[in-house]
Amino acid sequence: MTVKVYAMTCGWISGDFNLMMADAPGRIRFPVPAYLIDHPKGRVLFDSGLHPDIQTDMRGRAGDVMADLFEVEFRPGEEIEARLAALDIAADSIDYIVNSHLHWDHTGGNTLVANAKIIIQKKEWEAGHVPELIEQNLFNPADYNHGHQIQQIDGEHDLFGDGTVVTVPTYGHTPGHQSLKVKLASGDIILAADACYFRKTLEDMHLPNIVFDKVKMLESLKTLRRLQTAGARIFYGHDPEYWQAVPQAPLELT
Ligand SMILES: [Zn+2]
Repeated sequence: MTVKVYAMTCGWISGDFNLMMADAPGRIRFPVPAYLIDHPKGRVLFDSGLHPDIQTDMRGRAGDVMADLFEVEFRPGEEIEARLAALDIAADSIDYIVNSHLHWDHTGGNTLVANAKIIIQKKEWEAGHVPELIEQNLFNPADYNHGHQIQQIDGEHDLFGDGTVVTVPTYGHTPGHQSLKVKLASGDIILAADACYFRKTLEDMHLPNIVFDKVKMLESLKTLRRLQTAGARIFYGHDPEYWQAVPQAPLELT
């Protein structure tokens, strides 16, 4: 069974580095990744980037807290629908969105992918509907409450039952964060998302300030380390240097 994977960039965000890596000085500018996984039995998106309204009205769409913390570079043509169209893929032909978690830069494009079933950890989906947890995690229900069919999973889930696309629970960044393991001909890759922002996060086990549960997040970094030691390649969630070396769609990841 062969699976094709494409990396896409749905804008760039800038903010204080210490949000992303505790005590790091200065600012950081980082990419917003999304991935298309083309499996013979279905098309899967891993995360959907930012909502297109962010292009014209960051404060109105994301709210004052986010607008004060982050600046965004996000132009027409960079939203998930356009990135897919550039691959000759209609957004409404996507079968599944695996959302790593509910943050705005991972679910904002869900609304553009109308027919997909959302695959999300039960813990995360539940947290996205509890007012205190919405506030604590800076979730925006407008990003994810669109009436999609929702499949809530608990831990590992083998999407096609053949071991090619498997969710890896990596809780901690948010209550029910998950990463995704994909089997390529060259070996396993792990799309870590925000379980691990940077290469250095994993090398130094260095947590960000944006974290829901530090103990669980460290456990998740250990899980990623274990997978890496076993030979998997880790794709970091928001690492601008690492991202430069990742081939962008229409090139396939190999
Ligand atoms: Zn993120």
